[in-house]
Amino acid sequence: MPTDTIAYRGRIAPSPTGYLHLGHARTFLIAAERAAAAGGVLVLRDEDLDRDRARPEYARAMLEDLHWLGLRWDEGPQAPGEEAGAYGPYRQSARFTLYRKVIAELAEGGWLYRCVCSRKDLATAVRAPHAEDEDEPVYPKTCRGRGCEGDGALRFRVRDGEAVLFEDGGLGPQSFVAGVDFGDFVVERRDGVPSYQLACVADDFAMGITEVVRGRDLLRSTARQILLQRALGYPQPAYFHCLLLVDAHGQRLAKRSDAVSLRALRSAGKTVAEVRAMAMGGVVR
Ligand code: GLU
Repeated sequence: MPTDTIAYRGRIAPSPTGYLHLGHARTFLIAAERAAAAGGVLVLRDEDLDRDRARPEYARAMLEDLHWLGLRWDEGPQAPGEEAGAYGPYRQSARFTLYRKVIAELAEGGWLYRCVCSRKDLATAVRAPHAEDEDEPVYPKTCRGRGCEGDGALRFRVRDGEAVLFEDGGLGPQSFVAGVDFGDFVVERRDGVPSYQLACVADDFAMGITEVVRGRDLLRSTARQILLQRALGYPQPAYFHCLLLVDAHGQRLAKRSDAVSLRALRSAGKTVAEVRAMAMGGVVR
């Protein structure tokens, strides 16, 4: 094998905050397919940082449902609590040391500040044009002049007007502008828990991920994550965003849509082949 090519390392990164549904199945099947086609490695990462919503029974169900669907991964928990692979632990709640180190590095570089705005203050901020519904409003920069001392969330200070361009493997050329499409974003919540953006960038780098495959609802997050990679001097992985399955009303599937959870379909007697066909053959947007 030529030594100048980096071997493909992909990942699937479910959050144990509910049961996996057909939408997850679709994204993860695509991720697995891309890793297999490249003769690469697939990592499973349990994104369980959300203390309020993540539950061990969902983490267990997640592994079981993915196995039932026929998905296999090379690194990460194979069974609850069972870690396999050199880059673990693969549960984010067990990786705080890494996240703290990365946050300290950003703070030293002058990228962060404490934000003491209340939820109510933030609720009045304006949403970016064309943002996906669940994307947060552009932060109005109220606390931008602060340092890192004291209490509050830590925010990443974006450079207003900085362009983020990338070629997406699934969706083609993408272009975002910092300060317009998204604002200063949280890297550590006020309760000390690292944010999704931070943990994801730290882990994708530490786990040597070469391509990130995920849903297109995270495109804007990708732009934020690229800014973190730039600030930290990390290489940028390739990105492949997948279209999302929608229901009969054209709405994307949510964790609340229990009717299409893999468990529900399975207990309703659907076979693996049927569920795979539903995931890969459904209407997407
Ligand atoms: N844990 C995230 C989710 O379930 C996925 C994040 C990612 O793939 O980067 O939405």
